[in-house]
Amino acid sequence: MAIDPTQPYDDGNIFAKILRGEIPSNRIYEDEWAVAFEDINPQAAVHTLVIPRGAYVSWDDFSARASDAEIAGFVRAVGAVARAKGLVEPGYRLLANVGGHGGQEVPHLHVHLFGGEPLGRMIAR
Ligand code: 5GP
Repeated sequence: MAIDPTQPYDDGNIFAKILRGEIPSNRIYEDEWAVAFEDINPQAAVHTLVIPRGAYVSWDDFSARASDAEIAGFVRAVGAVARAKGLVEPGYRLLANVGGHGGQEVPHLHVHLFGGEPLGRMIAR
């Protein structure tokens, strides 16, 4: 079920647990600002999730409250992960779902990084 992105941050969400190392993940990148791991239910040949270390419910929350350093660090981390996975030359797609219409299910900001094959049009109709 989609989350309500206006609710306060829930420290018990699954990505908070992954950040704390309480549940396993296939972690492929981490730095001061972000952690990246493979999606458990991949929707493309490459489907990686990048999350900030800070407690932010969604892109809306992050863009409103995060410091300039957190925002810069996170954006740079997403780019670093894409480069590390060799996605730049063939191309890739970023996606951040927000709230009900976005279909967001996990209430910790995450950017989906899709690639490894042609991805088609932006949104299936
Ligand atoms: P959303 O719909 O919130 O944008 O996407 C949530 C994503 O998290 C989904 O693609 C889902 O497969 C992924 N996911 C949910 N639970 C886990 C988990 O425990 N581990 C990993 N690696 N991915 C998860």
